[in-house]
Amino acid sequence: MNDAIPFLDLIGPHLELEAELTEAFRTALHGAMFIGGGALTSFEKNFAAFHDVAECAGVASGTDALLFALLAGGVQPGQTVLTTANTFIATAEAISQAGATPEFVEVEEQTYNLCPVKLRAYLESCPRDPQTGLRLSRRTQTPIAAVLPVHLYGQMADMDAIEEVAHEFGLLVFEDACQAHGAEYFSKREKRWRKAGSIGLAAAFSFYPGKNLGACGEGGAVTTNDPALAAQVRMLRDHGQSQRYYHDVIGFNGRLDAIQAAFLDIKLKHLAEWNHLRRAAAARYDEGFKGLSEVIAPLKAPDRTPVYHLYVVRVAERDQVQARLTAAGIGTGIHYPVPVHLQKAYSSLGYRAGDLPLTERLAREVLSLPMFPKISGVQQNKVVEETLRAVRQVSPRLSSAR
Ligand SMILES: *Cc1c(COP(=O)(O)O)cnc(C)c1O
Repeated sequence: MNDAIPFLDLIGPHLELEAELTEAFRTALHGAMFIGGGALTSFEKNFAAFHDVAECAGVASGTDALLFALLAGGVQPGQTVLTTANTFIATAEAISQAGATPEFVEVEEQTYNLCPVKLRAYLESCPRDPQTGLRLSRRTQTPIAAVLPVHLYGQMADMDAIEEVAHEFGLLVFEDACQAHGAEYFSKREKRWRKAGSIGLAAAFSFYPGKNLGACGEGGAVTTNDPALAAQVRMLRDHGQSQRYYHDVIGFNGRLDAIQAAFLDIKLKHLAEWNHLRRAAAARYDEGFKGLSEVIAPLKAPDRTPVYHLYVVRVAERDQVQARLTAAGIGTGIHYPVPVHLQKAYSSLGYRAGDLPLTERLAREVLSLPMFPKISGVQQNKVVEETLRAVRQVSPRLSSAR
């Protein structure tokens, strides 16, 4: 089908930059610049500046970025880290890899992100550890040391409120910004717009190819305003060494390739424009779905500037709707079909279906529509038209309205 509409476009943007990317590759090849060096430090500096943050350390993936952020930030084995189950599994995996245990808090109905009200209620229901003053997880009786909100789909979590609760309960705050390159949040407390990755003690970004800023392979970064934390991440990513062959801690091989850094530096110059185009595309979808009860479009809150890594709607009979869109030549995705607390990998935590009702309902209803910077209005009209046709055929209306 030549009028098929892909879910995303990983070819177009790279072909547009082909000459520059190829030149960067040649430079690396001719100078054997594969690890570290000027390309890495240049990208780190530019990426930090883009997010209004003092430090950026490139690492091998978003998962490593989460892991190194937690470790460098002081999360200890045997502690609990609170996050959401409505996310990609890497959020929880990194907590586990750090030796801690994830505990899942319900999300907000409007943003699908960590709900500060439910966060507070959960913490209030937990007993206090007389030694540390921290709350003890009811599930594992381990001290709750940190909270890791996810800026899902490129929309930031309610960071003012989350920080307030974290402060009250002595929790460290980290950000999973793996889907939120360039996203912004208006802080009422600070009376200014704040960028994803600049708010918590440390934040993680992913450069997986499909992300808003993607490498031509794997990559990730930790951002922080704390130079000592950044130095610790640089040590962790490089076998725990502070100077060559002098290893201060047991680390990892978790570096960002110099070639990927060079590619990312080239693509970073276009990120603001790409995010702008994504927002324009989202606005066209919003317009197409306006006033329709069968399709719940993403919230457009005045205090957030999302970057629409994904444009996710909610529909009843989602699987049938998706099958019809596939048949009509429209690429879609489901982010995510099984919430983390119900994944087999986490069965040992003992969660059951029904423990996080809203998260579980989202897993049944969410549908990610085609979204990439250069999607055309014509393509989007077809997506809207086919989505409405499918929804109206399979079910008269959504099971529960927002
Ligand atoms: C992509 C992603 C990650 C992991 O990033 P990788 O680079 O694939 O390791 C973590 N969290 C979220 C929310 C993500 O979307």
